[in-house]
Amino acid sequence: MKFNQEYWVTELPKPLTYIPIIELAIPGSHDSFSYTITPYSKIGPDASRLVKYLNLMFGPIMRRFVYKWSITQTCNIQHQLCLGIRYFDLRMATKINDTNFYTVHALYGDPVMKELINIKTFLMSHTKEILILDFQHFYQFSKADHNRLLTILKSLFHNMICPKTYPVEKLNLNIMRTNSWQMIIIYRHNIQDDMFWPSSYWPTPWPQTTTYKYLIQFLESGLKQRKPNTGYVTQCLFTPDVKFILRYFYLNLQTCCLPLNNLIPKWIINQKSGNKHGVNVIIADFINMNGFNFCDIVIQLNYKHLITKKNCLNSVFGMTLTEHALELIDDDSVFLIQCHERRIIQIVGSRGDIYTIMETVNFCTCDFFKYQVLTDKSLCCKHFLAAKVALILKSFKVKSETPGSLTSIMISAYGNQEFD
Ligand SMILES: [Zn+2]
Repeated sequence: MKFNQEYWVTELPKPLTYIPIIELAIPGSHDSFSYTITPYSKIGPDASRLVKYLNLMFGPIMRRFVYKWSITQTCNIQHQLCLGIRYFDLRMATKINDTNFYTVHALYGDPVMKELINIKTFLMSHTKEILILDFQHFYQFSKADHNRLLTILKSLFHNMICPKTYPVEKLNLNIMRTNSWQMIIIYRHNIQDDMFWPSSYWPTPWPQTTTYKYLIQFLESGLKQRKPNTGYVTQCLFTPDVKFILRYFYLNLQTCCLPLNNLIPKWIINQKSGNKHGVNVIIADFINMNGFNFCDIVIQLNYKHLITKKNCLNSVFGMTLTEHALELIDDDSVFLIQCHERRIIQIVGSRGDIYTIMETVNFCTCDFFKYQVLTDKSLCCKHFLAAKVALILKSFKVKSETPGSLTSIMISAYGNQEFD
C-alpha cells in the first residue's frame, strides 16, 4: 500500500483516530538532526575519550573520520516530515560562551532552533498532523540551560503542546485535534513541568549491537516486556563500537547500515501495533536510503487494526452490511441525542431520511428492517449496526435535547408504525 506520506496522519481512517497514540505505529528517525554535521564540525562533548584523544593528536583528519560514523540521517527536517517521519530523536549540547543549543553526535551540528522553527512551520500548514519530539540526551547542560530550553520550547510551540497531565493510555488523535494539540515533547531529564513528558512514559531500549540476529532477539524480547500503559520506541539500528569502527575504518555508518535496512522491513511488516506487546514508535538510520520504504511499511501497520476489526464484523454481519454501516460512520451520519440519562441515536441516510435507533433494542423503521430483519434474512439493518459500532468507537456527533423534545422524536419515529 502506498500512502500520501506528507499527510498520513490526516488521512488515517476515522476509527484509527480513536485508538490511543501509544497503540499506533509511528515512523521515527534516529539522531534526527545529525544531517547538519559536516566534516569540518568540532568534536562534541559526547564523543568518547578515545575520539577526544585522537582529535588532539590528529586534528582535522580525525574529525573527517569521526564524521563518517556520526551521520545517521542525510535528509533535512522538511524532507523527513514529507516522507512521514513523526518522531524526532534529539541530542543537544551547549558551547562555552554561546547561548545557542546545538545538535550533537560525537561532532557538533547546527543550532537546533532553526530546525525547530521548520517543524513549527510544517505543523501550522498541516493542522491535522501530529508529532513527537524526544529530547534524549543533554551534554554540557546546567540547570539554567535546561530552564532556558524549556522556556524557548514553550514560547515557540505554545498551545500546540499536549501536556503530560492528560492520561497517556487515553490520548488519541481525536482528543489531540479537539484541543488543537499537535505535539508531544518527551524530555528525558529530571524536571517538573506539566508540559513535558518524562522518560518513563516512552521507554526506548537501546540494542547496542552490530549483529542482525542479536538485534531481532533484543527487539522481540523488549516488546514482550512492554508495559500496556506507556508508549514504546523500537530502535531498528546498528551501533558500531570502537572495536568495530577501527576494524572497518575505511567504511562509514551508512555502508554498515545497508544490510540492516535491506533486512529489517521483513521484520517490521510482520509486527502489529498496539500496547499488548505490539510496536509504537519505530526508528531507523538513513530513513531515505534507496529502496528502503521505511515510512510506508511502518504506517501500514496501523491498517491492521482496521482489517482485524472489519473482518470480525464481516464474518458476523456480511460484507455489504458492514461496508454500508461503516460508510455511515465515516460520513458523520451518526448523531447521539441525549437528555440527562436518556439517549437515542439518529442516523441520517444518504437521501436525508432520519432513522431513530434505541440503544438496546434491535429495531429500525427502514424497509430493510421490515423485509430482511423481521423475516430472519438478516440480523439487523445498517442503521442499527452503524449505531452500535459508532457507540463503541465513540464516533458520533452529540445533540442535547429537552425531555419533551426527546419524547416527541420517539413518538414521531415510532408512533405510527404499522406492520403488514
Ligand atoms: Zn434501518
